[in-house]
Amino acid sequence: MAGKRLDRAVLGSVLLAVWSAGAFAVNWGEARIPLWLTWLPAVLSIVLPVLAAAQVARARAFAAPTRRFWRGLALTAVLAGLGILLNARDAIGGPVPSQSLSPLTVTTYGCAVLVLLWSLWRLPTGASGPEERLRVGLDASTVIVAAAVFIWHYQTRPLLESTGYEAGSLAAAGLTLVLELVTVFVIVKVALSGHSFVAKGALRLFGGGLVAGALSGVAQRFIIDQPHLSLPQITVPLVLAVVPIAVRRQFRTLAAPDTALAVSRRPFSVLPYLAVGAIDALLLGSIANGADDLAVTAMAAVVLTGLVVWRQVTAFRENTDLLEQLDFNATHDALTRLPNRALFNERLAGVLGGSAVRPVSVALVDLDDFKIVNDTLGHGAGDALLVAVSARLAAGVRPGDLVARLGGDEFVVLLDAIDPAEAELVAQRMVAALAEPVLADGHELLVRASIGIADGRTGDEPGELLRLADIAMYAAKHDGGSGYRRYVPGMSGAVAGSAALGAQLRQAIVGGELFLEYQPIVTLDEGRLSGVEALVRWEHPTRGTVPPIEFIPVAERTGLIVPLGEWVLREACRQLAAWITDFGPDAPRVVHVNVSGRQLAAAGFTDMVAAALADFGVPPHRLTVEITESAAIALGPAAVRLEELRALGVRVALDDFGTDQSSLTLLQDLPVDELKLDRSFVQRDETGRRGTMPAAVLALARIVGLDIVAEGVEQQEQADRLSALGYRTAQGYHFARPMSPGGIAGLIEAGAPAGAR
Ligand code: C2E
Ligand code: CA
Ligand code: CA
Repeated sequence: MAGKRLDRAVLGSVLLAVWSAGAFAVNWGEARIPLWLTWLPAVLSIVLPVLAAAQVARARAFAAPTRRFWRGLALTAVLAGLGILLNARDAIGGPVPSQSLSPLTVTTYGCAVLVLLWSLWRLPTGASGPEERLRVGLDASTVIVAAAVFIWHYQTRPLLESTGYEAGSLAAAGLTLVLELVTVFVIVKVALSGHSFVAKGALRLFGGGLVAGALSGVAQRFIIDQPHLSLPQITVPLVLAVVPIAVRRQFRTLAAPDTALAVSRRPFSVLPYLAVGAIDALLLGSIANGADDLAVTAMAAVVLTGLVVWRQVTAFRENTDLLEQLDFNATHDALTRLPNRALFNERLAGVLGGSAVRPVSVALVDLDDFKIVNDTLGHGAGDALLVAVSARLAAGVRPGDLVARLGGDEFVVLLDAIDPAEAELVAQRMVAALAEPVLADGHELLVRASIGIADGRTGDEPGELLRLADIAMYAAKHDGGSGYRRYVPGMSGAVAGSAALGAQLRQAIVGGELFLEYQPIVTLDEGRLSGVEALVRWEHPTRGTVPPIEFIPVAERTGLIVPLGEWVLREACRQLAAWITDFGPDAPRVVHVNVSGRQLAAAGFTDMVAAALADFGVPPHRLTVEITESAAIALGPAAVRLEELRALGVRVALDDFGTDQSSLTLLQDLPVDELKLDRSFVQRDETGRRGTMPAAVLALARIVGLDIVAEGVEQQEQADRLSALGYRTAQGYHFARPMSPGGIAGLIEAGAPAGAR
């Protein structure tokens, strides 16, 4: 927008105002310059304000209410211009200069004022609700009542007394009073409401202009004896000079909208209190002077007191609501609107601390693979999934049970006065409710959740009950997820999930508390060592050796799996290189390293693998990356990572194969080299579906052209049966348990793994 043009408009308006003031001063006492020269600046002063206001009205950058307001203002200026023309004709058109205005002039001026009031009135108040509108209304009424009493006391009553209350002046006084009150009301409304459409400075200028215009009517009587002078000669250019300045302010709001347009939501305005104070002062003064309209002032004071009390009660009620809202926010989760951890802890402590002895159960629900949904589909999908899950959980419980979100993808249900059988039913219902696909952010997702239940009774320690539920939940996760487990004494995983474990694990990675064991993978016919699987262990300073099922899930949840996995991979490569150096062709042909989905999804995974291979001089084909089916499914588009790995020359194996529904279709899409038949198929009896799985999977692997390893071989008969089916490689306690690198070296030197034929 042409800032220069605006600056010129401001300058022009100010010059015209100065001219008119100068001409007025020069003619004070007697007419020294021709009268048309004193009226000319007033008439000219219309043009620039109209143009400036129209500029805002036309600028599309402003909001509709803003443009509407400035349109009204341009119209006001046009009407004021008409008024001043008519006024000039009244003044100098006759045989002698005159100050009296024709009815047409008065009407035109009146219209200008009305249009301005109307424009101000139509500005949105910014009041957000009925309560706030009521408060603004009460504040405005307070000021109006006070203003009415003042106008009555100082203007209307003296005027009426001087004219003897005759009908004509009564009507005129009444009309003036009403107009003045309307003006006050509009000003108050604009001042109290959080207007945000017209620049604050601009509004203040208009307020000043309105007040100046009103006062000039009073001042007219000082020049009653100089008929060649008229106040509009100077007031109109002065008031209109404000408009281009205000327009400039309005355009500045486009550059810095925050400061200039800030919605000032003032819950407490001083205006009503000033009004009450003023009336109190008037009342005291009237008592002291013995004024005869004491009753009116006293009544006004009473009414004002009532209004202020009403307003305070409203504000108080609003504050109470606000406090309730704050309380809700402090105890509820913003995303799902479920109670949060704090409220859950409070309720659990309350229930367990109750006097009537009764059973209490806690069900901990943790989504499987939620992180992967979040990482691959985005937070929008993740959030939608959490909301959907919370709704389903809430639908699955009994009325009165508390469903809370502990944080992340962890939920908890408090089952008060429930017997274990019923708790089991609730868990089944929740699993069933979650089994339906969820439509989250345009993706149809299969929610998998692991539920752990701990049964307790009043008097139990709340933290302990939660801890047991946590252990049961991890047991459910370890079962493959998408199911529930109830805590039984001795259930493993006592350390898993405790918050401290994450911190300790971080320390373990940098502090060298991790080490690898290697489990031989052998050929079934000769029992030759064909490869090893690296399995991580944690030598915990106080707990002894911690198995991976207890800390890998924690590492996955916390993201620590990424540095941990890097350490494992590099250590395995280092070890294989050392064996190759020591044993040459007798060294294990390949080392298998387990990789979790979260690691694959992390940026730079392929580069990290390539660097590890290069740093230790391990040929890529001697590394196999094992990834579980469920992680591979959840990978979705991140499955290209597997392609990248294979492009390096690294082999990819699908771990725990057969435990997921979608295995067969998955195989066609996933770039893998090898399957590891899950141990559950090896160890079960020959009857039923499980009995036929090893044969079916082997046939499948042959069709698709994949290598296959049978896991979890514990007995000779199992090895024999697999061998008879056509399996060539296997792994299991029957051949060897995971062992130290030295143990593997011993096997190589002995020429065959322990337990092999
Ligand atoms: P997995 O990949 O299925 O590893 C095989 C697990 O089965 C090992 O348990 C191994 O000791 C056990 N196993 C081997 N033979 C037999 C047998 O004949 N019978 C039975 N019952 N079990 C047998 P481990 O070492 O406790 O590892 C458990 C899981 O922890 C692994 O399952 C793997 O998913 C995870 N894991 C281990 N190390 C790592 C690692 O470095 N990174 C990642 N991401 N996960 C790892
Ligand atoms: Ca494995
Ligand atoms: Ca496995």
